[in-house]
Amino acid sequence: MVQDKQDKDQLAQMPIDQLYQSLRTSANGLTDQQVQSQKAKYGDNVITAAKGENKLLHFLKNFTSLMAILLWVSGFIAIFAKMVELGIAIWAVNIINGLFSYWQENQAHKASDALKKMLPTQATVIRNGKSEQIDTADIVPGDILMIAAGNSISADARIISADSFQVDESALTGESDLTDKKPDYHHGEGKFDEENLIYAGTVASAGSAKAVALSTGMNTEFGKIASLTQSQQAKPSPLELELNRLTRQLSIIAISIGIAFFLAAIFFVHYPVAQSFIFALGMVVAFIPEGLLPTVTLSLAQGVQRMAKKNALVKNLNSVETLGETTVIASDKTGTLTQNQMTINHVWLPDKVFTVSGEGYVNNGQVMDGQAAVKPGQNADLDLLMKAISLNNDTTVTPNNQPGAQAKIVGTPTEASLVILAEKYQLASKQLANANPRQKELVFDSVRKRMSTVNKGQDGKLTLYTKGALDGILSITKSILVNGQVRAITDDDIKQIQAADEEYAKQGLRSLAVAYRDLDASEDLSQATAANTEQNLTFVGLTIMADPPRPEIYAAVKKAHQAGIRIIMVTGDGPITAKSVAVKIGLVSDQARVITGDELSAMADEDLRQAVKGEVIFARVAPEQKYRIVKANQANGEIVASTGDGVNDAPALKQADIGIAMGATGTDVAKEAADMILTDDNFASIIAAIEEGRTVYSNIQKFLLYILNSNVPEAFPSVLFLFSGGLIPLPLTVMQILTIDLGTDMLPALGLGSEKSEPGVMQEPPRSRKAHLLNKSIIWKAFGLYGLVASIISAGAYFFVNYAYGWPKHALSASGAVYAEATTITLAAIVFCQIAAAMNARTKYTSVFKIGLFSNKHIVTGIIFEVILISLIIYVPFLQGVFNTHALGVQEWLFLIAIPIPLILLEELRKWVVRKYFLKRNS
Ligand code: ATP
Repeated sequence: MVQDKQDKDQLAQMPIDQLYQSLRTSANGLTDQQVQSQKAKYGDNVITAAKGENKLLHFLKNFTSLMAILLWVSGFIAIFAKMVELGIAIWAVNIINGLFSYWQENQAHKASDALKKMLPTQATVIRNGKSEQIDTADIVPGDILMIAAGNSISADARIISADSFQVDESALTGESDLTDKKPDYHHGEGKFDEENLIYAGTVASAGSAKAVALSTGMNTEFGKIASLTQSQQAKPSPLELELNRLTRQLSIIAISIGIAFFLAAIFFVHYPVAQSFIFALGMVVAFIPEGLLPTVTLSLAQGVQRMAKKNALVKNLNSVETLGETTVIASDKTGTLTQNQMTINHVWLPDKVFTVSGEGYVNNGQVMDGQAAVKPGQNADLDLLMKAISLNNDTTVTPNNQPGAQAKIVGTPTEASLVILAEKYQLASKQLANANPRQKELVFDSVRKRMSTVNKGQDGKLTLYTKGALDGILSITKSILVNGQVRAITDDDIKQIQAADEEYAKQGLRSLAVAYRDLDASEDLSQATAANTEQNLTFVGLTIMADPPRPEIYAAVKKAHQAGIRIIMVTGDGPITAKSVAVKIGLVSDQARVITGDELSAMADEDLRQAVKGEVIFARVAPEQKYRIVKANQANGEIVASTGDGVNDAPALKQADIGIAMGATGTDVAKEAADMILTDDNFASIIAAIEEGRTVYSNIQKFLLYILNSNVPEAFPSVLFLFSGGLIPLPLTVMQILTIDLGTDMLPALGLGSEKSEPGVMQEPPRSRKAHLLNKSIIWKAFGLYGLVASIISAGAYFFVNYAYGWPKHALSASGAVYAEATTITLAAIVFCQIAAAMNARTKYTSVFKIGLFSNKHIVTGIIFEVILISLIIYVPFLQGVFNTHALGVQEWLFLIAIPIPLILLEELRKWVVRKYFLKRNS
């Protein structure tokens, strides 16, 4: 195994055979047995997670928050002041609370770990002389790697052969220029400059290469750096920052209130210091929003899991929040909005149009001339076109001729449709390929938008076959083939071709032009480039293909629009086809502006900024131009999500607030650059993820509303006590406050975090980035509405019990059975008000009966737990002592059970009024 850089240098210079020998491999790759023994020796090819924080420390953190420390200290003081039971009880509650938040954190971690496992990257290797796809984690030293543009490189390796191979080593070197890599050893100046070595953590940007893996996992250069820098902490997200701020502010308020109450207790009520402290502590605990952070983390993690079920894998929790804010989606067309199921339905020749029957990747159709099927040998021009598309093609298809079967395509859907066309034509493709071996390939790129091959015919002559976007091909065409004759192409010919193309494009069909040229014997193939070879072509014809919109796209687009999200189509396809499809699926109106890539290049940034404000489509653009479109939108203050799949999409994906890569057709580079990966490449999944993002945020607000509102009835009794100068004995003891805050409230609150999307979340405009989590409406509801009502009910219950025992004739009792019973009913009344609050907080506007009173299992279980807990506290003799409670009778229980009913009905009435008179929704 190669451990350090020195060894690698030696291996870089060794003759290949010797290299194979020293790695115990060969040109045929490793055998299964060798793989096994290498694996046993070197382990998985993974960068192991940071050793990071000590586990114990991590655990203890949950017991050392500001609130926890307060509780530890209070326990001491209580014990010191001879209130031993109280002291121990405070500690016990503190421990339970700490354990709970540790559990929450762990759950969230597990969820994100599970997600990481769903994102394995694959590599192509040669083993046992055959090429196979394996998880990158299974690569071992000695494996022969086949690397193509767009692949990430996942081991340090030496290049054996390369074709125009370039890598982006910026992850390792910080320099963004592409580096050429070749099989020959040549040592440059920098650390990673050897021309024939490639490194894990970098990506292949162009061309292809074959390489032998030298080292894997933590032994790679990347692994070594990672082990040094892993302790770096992730940057906190805006949501985390806001939560931290909120917790800090609320804690300051809580402590100020605590101090005020402490002083008031000493000076107004003349309480002993220790008792005053414990009393004030109740207030502090009531107001500190403990459990906020872990609950939020957990609900984000749960949101991520729900998104994964809807085919959207989010790489980090922060993105969930950003998704909910998205205002613009820049989306590819082919495969994202459409099915990427190309079917050729016409072949257009200058003097004749053929129709093609059958749909999808099924080869049971025919090429028809009117009613008659056409076969090879009947039309020479058609024969030539078919020959061109068959030779100039790198795709293989296993058609889905059996019902229910999926077509298997190795290559691109566009080329697959051409393969199927040739099959329908009954072209003997294999024999043709054998008789006309390929001598040269000028690969497709999204700037030229075409691809060419040079094939050697049986007569020894070389012919160039080109296929690609019509506009580009016409610009390099000199002649035209009509009815077996080649003649100079005229302006009229061009007009006729363009008119035909436009006619199809208007129907949303895309064309691919086919042309050829017989090469001169003098042309040197080794010097051939696209620029010097793709010229003076003879135009043959057009293949016309349909790529139907995805069936679910119509509803998804409508939903996005209702949610105030604009969609900008950015496609490599032609302007007329693009617009026709966009109009058809409801993306834009007929008035939309279409900007082509060429126009975009000439456009000033300011003009682009103006243009993207309106209805606009970008057509015939290269992926690298997407970056500018994303930036222009961001400059307008938009939160932009952008899709992409190729190497050149990476800058746009990185720049976007949410980069979205295609899971099925996307390159590793795009997936690496993205924040979210669509496993089904489907636009509708983006909208589903945005809906989840919005839901998670609003659930956090619901949770906040719930935990804040109980503060008011918890504080109210203490206020009564203080303001009456002690005449009204404390209606709720400190232990009872702790019970609510750290006990009964917890589980229903957690349940709110997993509430399903409220109907209507996608009918509101996107949330503003400036909007605060804790807004006026929540404050007013928590403190003004729910809180006040609960205070009145619980204090009312307190006085009612006293009344039953003779108050106001006798003074309110401050100890003994009556006092215990009165405080017990106060406590229980608050708990039952909280049951109503949990139900009420579940929706903002919608009737809770509409979403189903019992539809959230977690809340229902939470409430059951809450009632059991409070019953234990009320009835178990030992707990009665600790919590100063007293058994309640049937009548009192009837009163308690009745509490939530009017509270829920009242809130329903309020929601109804809001729905009827105040709610403005997009539709
Ligand atoms: P989108 O950008 O929405 O995914 P697209 O698939 O049309 O759309 P590109 O893949 O960049 O975008 O293709 C651009 C154009 O290049 C196509 O419209 C087509 O004319 C041409 N083209 C695509 N694939 C090939 C190919 N394999 N050989 C030759 N030309 C091709």
